[in-house]
Amino acid sequence: MSTPITPAGMEGLAAIVSGPDRALLAFDFDGVLSPIVDDPEKAQASPRAFHTLADVGKRVGSVAIVTGRPVSFLISRDRFGTLLSIPDFAVYGHYGREKWDSVSRTTVSAPPDEGIEEIRRELTQLLGQPGVHDGSWLEDKGSAVAIHTRRAADPALALATLSGPVEELAERHHLRVEPGKMVLEIRPPGVQKGDVLRAIVRDRGFQAIMYAGDDLGDLSAFAAVDELRENGVPGIKVCSGSPEAPEVAKAADVVVDGPAGVADLLETLGQRIEHEGSAGATARTLLTGRLASTPAIRKQVALDSRGVPVPPRRSARTPRPAPRSGHAGTGRSGPARLAVRPPQPPDGPKAGRRASARSWHAAAWRRASRCRGSP
Ligand SMILES: [Mg+2]
Repeated sequence: MSTPITPAGMEGLAAIVSGPDRALLAFDFDGVLSPIVDDPEKAQASPRAFHTLADVGKRVGSVAIVTGRPVSFLISRDRFGTLLSIPDFAVYGHYGREKWDSVSRTTVSAPPDEGIEEIRRELTQLLGQPGVHDGSWLEDKGSAVAIHTRRAADPALALATLSGPVEELAERHHLRVEPGKMVLEIRPPGVQKGDVLRAIVRDRGFQAIMYAGDDLGDLSAFAAVDELRENGVPGIKVCSGSPEAPEVAKAADVVVDGPAGVADLLETLGQRIEHEGSAGATARTLLTGRLASTPAIRKQVALDSRGVPVPPRRSARTPRPAPRSGHAGTGRSGPARLAVRPPQPPDGPKAGRRASARSWHAAAWRRASRCRGSP
C-alpha cells in the first residue's frame, strides 16, 4: 500500500532533505514502528524499524517518539538500545505527560490525575459484568486507562456497546475518551500528541517536520503539522496504513504499508539526505563550484558515506599530458595539441635491459592509448 505524496508533503520532504540538521522526525509507536498485536504488552518494534530510525536519526536535528504508552514501556522494548546512537532523541509518553531523553536518560512526569484514579475502579466494575464485551480488558497506563476489545468474541460490537457507558463515566470525572483501533482510551483533557509537536518546534526552532501515525489519536499531530505549515514550517504527514482507521489515511500526505512501509520510507529518506542533504551539497559545491543537482553531474562526482567526493580511480593511471605547443621542430605554429607521452621505464635502455624496456614501452603505449580513447 502506497499513495502519491501531496504537493505539501513533497515540500515538507524536500525541506527535511535540504536541511536535515534543522528537521524533527516524530513517530507514534504502535502500528507505526511496531505491528499491532492482540496483546499490547507484547508489542515490539520490528528490528528493521529501529535500525532504520537509528540510521536516519543521526542525520537529522532530532527524533521523537510520541505515544500514549508510558515511557517505561517504550524504553524496555527489545533493541531499544539501538536508538541510543541518535544524538538528539526523546520519548514522550502518555501523550506528553512523561518525557525521557537520551542525554539525561531520566523520565520527568506530570502529577497523576485524580479522575483517572477514580474511573479506573469504576471501569473495572463495568468490565466485570457479563455481556458482549466479555474478553475486553483494562490497561492501566498510569495517567490514563484504556479498554481493549480485540479479545472479545465480536471486538467491534463490544467496542460499540461499551462506548456509551464509558463516555458517561468519563464525563462525570471530567475526562475525555479517545477511540482507537478496538480500544477506548480515557485520559485527562488537553493531553494531545499535537500539543507535544507544537511545543517541540516552538522551543527548539525546527524548520521542517515529519510525523508518522496510524490511529485516531494521531490526527491531532497531523493537525499540528498543518498549523506549522501555515506558519511557514514545511512538514509531511505519514500514515502507516491500516483498514481500521481510514480517517488517518485521508488526513495524511502519504500512506505507506504499515511499519514495514515506514521503515522503507526512513531508509529512502536516509539515502536522500546522505546524497542530497546539506553535507553532500557542500561537498559538491566545493568540487564543481555550484550545486550539482542534475543527474549528469551526480554521475561525475562519486561521494563516500560521509558525502565527501572520491577522486575517480582512472586519474591515477592516466599519463600526464605534454605541455601545449605548436608543431615542435618545424617552426610552424598551429593549433595546440595534447600529446600523450608514455612514461619512461624505471631502469631505461642504458641499464642494458633493452629487450625488457621494449616490452615495457609497448605495454605503456597500449595503456596510454586506452586512456586517450576513454571519455
Ligand atoms: Mg498507533
